[in-house]
Amino acid sequence: MLSLPVLLVNRHFAPVTVATARRAFVLLYGGAAHALDDGGDSHDFQAWFKLPVRHHDDPLPVVGGAVRVPRVLHLLRYDRAPRFTVRLTRKNLMIRDQFQCQYCGRRPNQRDLNLDHVVPRSRGGQESWENLVVSCRACNLRKGRRTPGEAGMNLLRAPLAPRWSTATQILLVTRRPYEEWQPFLKAG
Ligand SMILES: [Zn+2]
Repeated sequence: MLSLPVLLVNRHFAPVTVATARRAFVLLYGGAAHALDDGGDSHDFQAWFKLPVRHHDDPLPVVGGAVRVPRVLHLLRYDRAPRFTVRLTRKNLMIRDQFQCQYCGRRPNQRDLNLDHVVPRSRGGQESWENLVVSCRACNLRKGRRTPGEAGMNLLRAPLAPRWSTATQILLVTRRPYEEWQPFLKAG
């Protein structure tokens, strides 16, 4: 129960990050945050512990009974809306390029998509957002160890590091976001 995900929102209710329930209870206990219930009402530590645990809540056993694991925590004094840097991973590159070969524009089966170094590694090309694109096997083979210019192959769009919002990233990394998160993720 203590490892369940809890959405943290800043003072203005914009999404900040997802923390564990353990961290959420520490923040709640310390008074840095209030827990929001599914009706949007705000509760401090003491009030939260008095709420009944309903059948669809995640119960955390405590002395004398159980307490709801909160799903959204309101950080009372936190103003900022951090913008994370998106990690350079195969999955994130696929999402950025919309699972589409950046040379021919086809969208084959994911298994038939590779990552292509625009400037080949053997020629000093880097592992970076600007030098990696999604490519189908056929285009990958055709291009070989050449630059797009040498191969006469044009990129559909210039590869750049994505600037996803915090809400987008939270949705990308969370398998099953709670319904209670939706209003905050939409706003973010
Ligand atoms: Zn292709």
